[in-house]
Amino acid sequence: MIRDAEFKRLVLYAKGLGLKVTVFNRNNPHMQAYWTTDGKELGIYCGLKPNKTDLNLTIIHELGHALSYIRKKKRKTPQRLEKAWSRENDQEKLSESERKLIYEDEIAGVSFWDSIIQDTNVKIPKWRVELQKEIDLWIYEVYYKTGEYPKGKFKADTLKAFKAKWKARK
Ligand SMILES: [Zn+2]
Repeated sequence: MIRDAEFKRLVLYAKGLGLKVTVFNRNNPHMQAYWTTDGKELGIYCGLKPNKTDLNLTIIHELGHALSYIRKKKRKTPQRLEKAWSRENDQEKLSESERKLIYEDEIAGVSFWDSIIQDTNVKIPKWRVELQKEIDLWIYEVYYKTGEYPKGKFKADTLKAFKAKWKARK
């Protein structure tokens, strides 16, 4: 399967960046994957029968953070960002400026997706990749602007509209 082969290459790519990669054969209700801000680890939760395209896009998301750390931050997460992420992970209430740092960090990560996809020869259709970029950034933009992650009908309707838009362009 093409997605399985891509998954293996993405894991090897992460290892090539010096990351310790852990693949969990279970779900985590709080996250699909993580990258640690010290640049040392990447973890991914596979669970039972994951959608393999989604899974690979999730690793690409985390690899985007890893590359942003290596190439933009010179392998040092700024202290303010480190603190914002740590507070975020502890589900504390972040200030607007902290949420802005996180949103900007997400934008930085997404800017590396195309080069990761090119380097690892991932064949996920372009429209699907662009859809995921829009979804991921929108979620953090809403969080930045409102202090809440989108959920419920608002989230479902917006994702549906994004999907229809990108499918129409393919
Ligand atoms: Zn992220």
